[in-house]
Amino acid sequence: MTQETKNSILIIGGGLIGLSIAYEFARNNFKVLVLSKNRNESAGFVAAGMLATHSEGLKEELLKFGQESQSLIPKWIKSIEEDSKMQCGLKKCGIVVPFKNKEDLEKFPTYEYGRYLNQKDLQTEINGINSIWKHGLLFKQDGQIDNRRRLMRALERACSLHGVEFQEGSEVKDLTVEKNKITGATVLCATGQLKKINCEKAILCSGAWSKKIYKKIPVFPVKGQMLSIQGPSNFLRRVIFGPKTYLVPRDDGLIIVGATVEKDSKFNQGNTPNGINQLQEGIRSLLPEAINWPQMEHWWGFRPCTPDFKPILGKSKIENLFLATGHYRNGVLFSAITSDLIFKLVQNKSLKEIEISFLEKFSLDRFEI
Ligand SMILES: Cc1cc2nc3c(=O)[nH]c(=O)nc-3n(C[C@H](O)[C@H](O)[C@H](O)COP(=O)(O)OP(=O)(O)OC[C@H]3O[C@@H](n4cnc5c(N)ncnc54)[C@H](O)[C@@H]3O)c2cc1C
Repeated sequence: MTQETKNSILIIGGGLIGLSIAYEFARNNFKVLVLSKNRNESAGFVAAGMLATHSEGLKEELLKFGQESQSLIPKWIKSIEEDSKMQCGLKKCGIVVPFKNKEDLEKFPTYEYGRYLNQKDLQTEINGINSIWKHGLLFKQDGQIDNRRRLMRALERACSLHGVEFQEGSEVKDLTVEKNKITGATVLCATGQLKKINCEKAILCSGAWSKKIYKKIPVFPVKGQMLSIQGPSNFLRRVIFGPKTYLVPRDDGLIIVGATVEKDSKFNQGNTPNGINQLQEGIRSLLPEAINWPQMEHWWGFRPCTPDFKPILGKSKIENLFLATGHYRNGVLFSAITSDLIFKLVQNKSLKEIEISFLEKFSLDRFEI
């Protein structure tokens, strides 16, 4: 069966980046079709939702990219909230990075953007923090979004109210390319049937799975395991970003604890005793009393990683196939700027100098293929 979707935008992957781009096109009156293999495996439902531009110590173009995205986020979230009539849990709650010694603190790449905390200040900012931490940096400009429970669903709803068509359980098996131009895709549907979908323009946003569709993309999965604990409300006001573990407090006292970084994980599913132990050790080292708070959930997912840990954005080697993948640890943070940039590029809109430089730095061409 062939389904006509002429003059429309085909989005391959309904995760965080796919939804963000679908929303951008749909609110600008484009007809959008989202093909999604499995909504629930999306890293958008896995992430901790930190907006950690400075607290993660991003450098050079990634730092600029994060800062630009962070400046777009309030307006972008407001628009999603108005369209979806749902709240996304955006909070500029500040993120504290603790250190055991001053040398490490002074070497931190974004040191100059933070406020220095001595041990007393640290204990005031983070109720109950382990006394092994002697210094800290407070990045007041950083924060969080409740991606897992709110943003993803609000984006889906906003997209759908703007007329986006979703085909869940639809796996793109192959791209149809004629004279080096994409004309459609072969899709395995939830019913087990293969069908052909036509398109004029497509955007590949398939996260950690992107290479399976377009072999030229050097994206691979890096597994992350997470858990949540229920703390008393308002016990933690700020996110703590430790060297191996972070604690992200939501409004209702739920604390997201993350995350393992498993580079050789391939697509191995499931939580492991090792992974959960590492997270529990992390809780103990940051906030000892929290080790006795009830564990609510545990889950895992796959970050889309590239050899240089930077995203791949822009044109592909195939005409009219665009790429928005490889967001690795910062896809929530980068979602606002990614959707804005890709929309402008696909529409041939004029770009600011900084936007041109992002597209150059994050182009697929930087890899020798
Ligand atoms: C443990 C963990 C913690 C994280 N914490 C943070 C954080 O605090 N802050 C932050 O900014 N970022 C964080 N991230 C990163 C962020 O979640 C990702 O960068 C982001 O979700 C990537 O979005 P995506 O749309 O590219 O991929 P995904 O959200 O994974 O979506 C990809 C989608 O494509 C679909 N798909 C795949 N193949 C096909 C196909 N052939 N056909 C159709 N559909 C297909 C998949 O089913 C999936 O739904 C974290 C990630 C993890 C795993």
